[in-house]
Amino acid sequence: MKKALCKPCSLGLIAAGMKVKQLPGKAEKITCAECGRRRFGAEYEVTEKNGGRTDEGV
Ligand SMILES: [Zn+2]
Repeated sequence: MKKALCKPCSLGLIAAGMKVKQLPGKAEKITCAECGRRRFGAEYEVTEKNGGRTDEGV
């Protein structure tokens, strides 16, 4: 899913095992989807590694 995140939260999601990819575009003032604060950040595509369907073994 697409999320607006501040830098610490994007790193936090990566540390939590999520796949986080920054979308093209400059950093700007966003409302972070994780901590809910108005901070400097960017839009990220966040994917759960252990969620949804399993594509392995095809
Ligand atoms: Zn945040």
